[in-house]
Amino acid sequence: MGMTSTMSETFVIVGAGLAGAKAAETLREEGFDGRVVLLGAEPHRPYERPPLSKDYLRGESARDGAYVHPEDFAVERAVELRTSTTVRALDLAAHEVTLDGGERLGFARLLLAPGAEPRRLQVPGADLAGVHYLRTFDNADALRAAIERGGRAVVIGAGWIGCEVAASARTKGMDVTMVAPEAVPLERVLGRELGDVYAAIHRDHGVQLLLETGVEAIEGAARAERVRLSDGRTLDCDLVVVGIGVTPRTELAAAAGLEVDDGVVADERLRAGAEGVFVAGDVANAWHPLFGRRLRVEHWHNAIEQGAAAARGMVGAGEPYDRIPYFFSDQYDVGMEYAGHAERWDEVVFRGDVDTREFVAFWLHQRRVVAGINVNVWDVTDQIQALIRAGTPVDATRLRDPDVDLGSLAPA
Ligand SMILES: Cc1cc2nc3c(=O)[nH]c(=O)nc-3n(C[C@H](O)[C@H](O)[C@H](O)COP(=O)(O)OP(=O)(O)OC[C@H]3O[C@@H](n4cnc5c(N)ncnc54)[C@H](O)[C@@H]3O)c2cc1C
Repeated sequence: MGMTSTMSETFVIVGAGLAGAKAAETLREEGFDGRVVLLGAEPHRPYERPPLSKDYLRGESARDGAYVHPEDFAVERAVELRTSTTVRALDLAAHEVTLDGGERLGFARLLLAPGAEPRRLQVPGADLAGVHYLRTFDNADALRAAIERGGRAVVIGAGWIGCEVAASARTKGMDVTMVAPEAVPLERVLGRELGDVYAAIHRDHGVQLLLETGVEAIEGAARAERVRLSDGRTLDCDLVVVGIGVTPRTELAAAAGLEVDDGVVADERLRAGAEGVFVAGDVANAWHPLFGRRLRVEHWHNAIEQGAAAARGMVGAGEPYDRIPYFFSDQYDVGMEYAGHAERWDEVVFRGDVDTREFVAFWLHQRRVVAGINVNVWDVTDQIQALIRAGTPVDATRLRDPDVDLGSLAPA
């Protein structure tokens, strides 16, 4: 189907999160003037989630700061935003989605952007009151109220959510213990070297880290009062936060016969394996031309960029999606950005002062930069990304030397 034949048709977006909202915006920017229907299960208009573990959780910002678009966006751009509306089924042969309540809606093009779901802790007592997960405004409001009450928090998991919640709860004056099976926080993404840095940051702020430790049960009469650990110890607590990763929401796609493998499988143009069906955001496991493999990225920047790229694809103006994965995190007074994708590496090269927590670090594989992190150092992301994209061997000594201009290390 060419672009002109679709201009008056209906494009349906499943999931009114960041990726879905950016896609709706981009469809209009690209001049699509058919119907855009943006379907969201949550009662809220699209919002960004990063504040939910940071300023919003600490009560330092309001909801207004988190919305993707101003309130009049949907009306102004003629986007049919339907909140509190869950898509129950996809019929790809009939080109229809079924909503809760049974309504069917036809589409010429479909974008799947349902995001991801927090993984549930599978131990006795995990569903007691006082055990929190964090994905939505509603989750954040409940956790924020519990943090306001103070006391002792047990954070289960030492990934991004666990670390940021621990930092926010600690900043709000709670006693915080972080429990995780890994040897260091953030080990899965950052590895041992940088995980050590983050362990020290949390310890310096008074968080107790119980690493290489499992959780056996959560105990309490009516609500969570204690966490029982694999080493037999128990931790008294006033609240528990579980941050043990997310699972992409693939049920609809799988039931409709799309290929699912840690997300909905897509090509480098974000096309799932059916005519007119695209994916974006946390749910997408798309071929990445630069890395020569499929990647599923669970980050803010990816939701924005893939949402926009998928929308361009929907109007026939798409290009292969080859952005370098990027994300950021704020914990206490330590801000960072990460670019790239390091699965294996031979060496981590530090540039700057790790002790004062102002540095850049690079993951090197076969002398090539595969990822970089900047901690309390800013405006270097473009240079780091240029080094990764270049894919040429670098001189580690020069990389390490803060007097050598980073820009001079990547071929122009
Ligand atoms: C607390 C928190 C902090 C974060 N902090 C950072 C950070 O600092 N940096 C960073 O890079 N990333 C961060 N992230 C990750 C980032 O928020 C996600 O990568 C991003 O939200 C993904 O966007 P998405 O649109 O793919 O999915 P989502 O934001 O999950 O949106 C999907 C939407 O689709 C809806 N939906 C699902 N199924 C259906 C259905 N069948 N019918 C209708 N609607 C449906 C869902 O209800 C949801 O509202 C954070 C995430 C969380 C939870």
